[in-house]
Amino acid sequence: MASTPGNKRKNALYTKERIRHSYICGLVDNIYSNNHEELWKAVLGQIELSISKANFVTWFKNTSILSLENGKVIIGVPNGFAKEWLENKYNHYLLKAFHASQIEVSEIHCQITQDKPLAPAPPREAIRSIDAAHKPTLDGFLRKKLVESSNIRPQLEFSQERPHETNLNPRYLFENFIVAENNELAKAACYAVSQNLGTIYNPLFIYGGVGLGKTHLLQSIGNEISKHTPEKKIKYITSERFTTELIDSIKNQKTDQFKEYYQQMDLLIIDDVQFLSGKEKTQIEFFHIFNALYQLNKQIVISSDRPPKAIATLEDRLRSRFEGGMIADISRPNLETRIAILEAKAHERNIRIDEESIRFIAEHITQNIRELEGALNRVHAFCEFHKIPTTIAVTARVLEQLIENNRKSIKIEDIMKVITEYYGIQEEDLIKKGRKKEVSHSRQMAMYLLRSELQMPFTSIGAFFGGRDHTTVLHAYEKIEKGRSENIRLKEELNTLKERLYYNSCG
Ligand code: ADP
Ligand code: MG
Repeated sequence: MASTPGNKRKNALYTKERIRHSYICGLVDNIYSNNHEELWKAVLGQIELSISKANFVTWFKNTSILSLENGKVIIGVPNGFAKEWLENKYNHYLLKAFHASQIEVSEIHCQITQDKPLAPAPPREAIRSIDAAHKPTLDGFLRKKLVESSNIRPQLEFSQERPHETNLNPRYLFENFIVAENNELAKAACYAVSQNLGTIYNPLFIYGGVGLGKTHLLQSIGNEISKHTPEKKIKYITSERFTTELIDSIKNQKTDQFKEYYQQMDLLIIDDVQFLSGKEKTQIEFFHIFNALYQLNKQIVISSDRPPKAIATLEDRLRSRFEGGMIADISRPNLETRIAILEAKAHERNIRIDEESIRFIAEHITQNIRELEGALNRVHAFCEFHKIPTTIAVTARVLEQLIENNRKSIKIEDIMKVITEYYGIQEEDLIKKGRKKEVSHSRQMAMYLLRSELQMPFTSIGAFFGGRDHTTVLHAYEKIEKGRSENIRLKEELNTLKERLYYNSCG
């Protein structure tokens, strides 16, 4: 092959990648050195990266390698369920994980081990009191994961557990919110509201993409109020939960109680109002509650993934109410801010991680802060499990899959779904020929994303959109590409679409 500068660069990269790969493999080799328990740890470390923590703990607890010969491995499992899951559903993951640990396995069998009866699930308190000085064994590691996963509660669960309380998560505070230029206005507005409830900005409307800190800020207001004036009545609720409660109250003929309950609040926080879009009945009830609170100078704080104007099918009077108060946005953090956030999170959780790894994570995970935290946690869990220090090489390897997945998993349907949902239109309107302005903008955005995210040829995009000419697609692509650098609103719109695309498809 001719040694062009491009080839040289490619080869240099390739060599660097190989060095990094063999370095990691070397580490893994040293770790298990032909010992089944160590090998199993390495395999589990790989699997943990591919499946959810809860599944990992459920199916891999109390498992071990019983034998490994001629490419056939027998895994000891505690019960028939685990046998079925490991042999069928996780078979592929296991083969891949053995391969990644430099052991070629072609057959996986499970055997229920009689000597390790399935212990009943320990109560939370019992798990919590596990001695911290407990010898670090594989079982200890899994138990620790169990504690962690039993502590993970999605936002929505709060109201189920404590129906008459605030629903506030005490973790979300102004003190641990990193302020930078992407969120300083939103933070300042939220803080001002917490110091001047109902009198300064009412309603306060915060908008921004997924995982950028809206819930954190909204809840910080609630936590601040409850710290200083615990007698105030506070309610945090997502708009989806609000809708469900409303529907229940209609079913049980308790709408008056429902309204009464909400109208007595001093601070009502409704998260993710974009989900009210199209739900007329809920919007009407919300409007009444909103007015009652507003007239009494009670505080209302709202969040959404986009400004009120852009919420399709939002009742006009509700939209003008939202626009009548203060509106502040949160945008995507830049690299320096992402680094600062990672450093703060690592410090908060006592995670020792080198600067280079932090920078690597911040450079590669750019979409949202929730993913940024997730990546840090993954790297930390991997290193803790293998008892190795966090280095750039390990970090790169651990996140390789995550970074790849983010790109790979997008399909045409995903793009079309995001576009039709965002603009509130039907797919067939996008496909059929027509010159309506709103539709033509959405169509151009769809064409742009098909090209930029999937690298589809212009001719195929044209064919997909009802046999349009490839020059039409090229024109759309160039128009958006140009507009993106000149028009900040278009840039934000595009960012929101991409966030939805990647965030939703990666779960
Ligand atoms: P959103 O509601 O916008 O989807 P969240 O408020 O749930 O996002 O934030 C996602 C995660 O990122 C949370 O764990 C939150 O604590 C964290 N986070 C977001 N922004 C910041 C920030 N500026 N400083 C510290 N943590 C942040
Ligand atoms: Mg949120």
